[in-house]
Amino acid sequence: RLQQRIHGTTLEINLNALTHNFNFYKRQLKPGTRVMVMVKAFAYGGGATEIANHLQTLGADYLAVAFTDEGVTLRNQGIRLPIMVLNPVEESFELLREYQLEPVVFSPVFFKKLGIYASNHNIQIPIHLDLDTGMHRLGFEIKHIPELKNLIESYPELRIASLYTHLVGADEEVHHEFSLKQLDQFMEMKKEIESALTYRPLIHALNSAGIIRYPDYQMDMVRLGIGLYGVEVTGKHHHELKAVSTLKTTISQIKTLAPGSTVGYSRRGQLPEGGTIATLAIGYADGFDRRFSMGKGYVLIRGEKAPVIGNVCMDMTMVDISQIPEVREGEQAIIYGEGIPLRDLADRIGTIPYELLTNISSRVKRVYY
Ligand code: PLP
Repeated sequence: RLQQRIHGTTLEINLNALTHNFNFYKRQLKPGTRVMVMVKAFAYGGGATEIANHLQTLGADYLAVAFTDEGVTLRNQGIRLPIMVLNPVEESFELLREYQLEPVVFSPVFFKKLGIYASNHNIQIPIHLDLDTGMHRLGFEIKHIPELKNLIESYPELRIASLYTHLVGADEEVHHEFSLKQLDQFMEMKKEIESALTYRPLIHALNSAGIIRYPDYQMDMVRLGIGLYGVEVTGKHHHELKAVSTLKTTISQIKTLAPGSTVGYSRRGQLPEGGTIATLAIGYADGFDRRFSMGKGYVLIRGEKAPVIGNVCMDMTMVDISQIPEVREGEQAIIYGEGIPLRDLADRIGTIPYELLTNISSRVKRVYY
């Protein structure tokens, strides 16, 4: 129905599944809690514009991107929702203003630079303050609070739209105590900062896993990411989400090989008994990780698992189909989606579903239905 088979590989994005997942998270929220959706990194690989458009119709309240140019692209495609930029740089102040993007401010130095820019141009800029309660990536620490309060007073042109923190391990039970400590510290820092304000910013802390584990801390808004794309990282509600993306490719050729044959570069694939292999039109340049080589990964053909044989090549991968009868050239192979959970695939190569999703390269066509 939606095969645009010009290129052998497609990433199918099921927007109904996305709606289903969005509504699942909405149901976990108290009435009035806003939802910011992370559409950074090309909406976790799914295609930022199409997904942002869909989210606009679903009633998301905010979007977030990592870098300014990601926000510019969304604006150029007609996205009107407010957009927070997690990691802006000084050189992008002009673009932030022109495209009405809302930067995160994470340090006293950055606050001052943006404050000077705003006051020189005589404009108000909505900003979001990142509070570091343990991630130790970006953000104001407790020791910065007195200085931050002074900066807030000195640069009223920077209007604080929100205060937030980020949990380091909301997905893992072992970090429960640490998460609670982070949330406690966040509440303390928020109180201090609010005492320097005459208005009330939005307060938010929870990512997808946090929404599931810490319902008492939803506050004004949550920041939904991986869950929307169909991966429930706490594992508690896994079956209630639907797979949003399915990565499919085509079998270009089938070969029956004699005993003792080897397959692919460096002769790493060994067929001592001989067998049948299928060559797929996907390689590491498409985002099929080379660590899936040598049987670490598999694909689904006719519903059966076909293990990778030899090394994944740049544009092609060979799989062993000796155990799957009657496969024909031109048939499809499923790399992931319904039937191949991303978490299982990620575990096999020691990574996380986030990396698999965001690594699908731009040459793979995205198809929406
Ligand atoms: N909030 C911040 C600051 C993030 O960097 C991210 C993603 O990395 C999220 C929220 C969303 O996290 P998740 O995809 O685990 O829901």
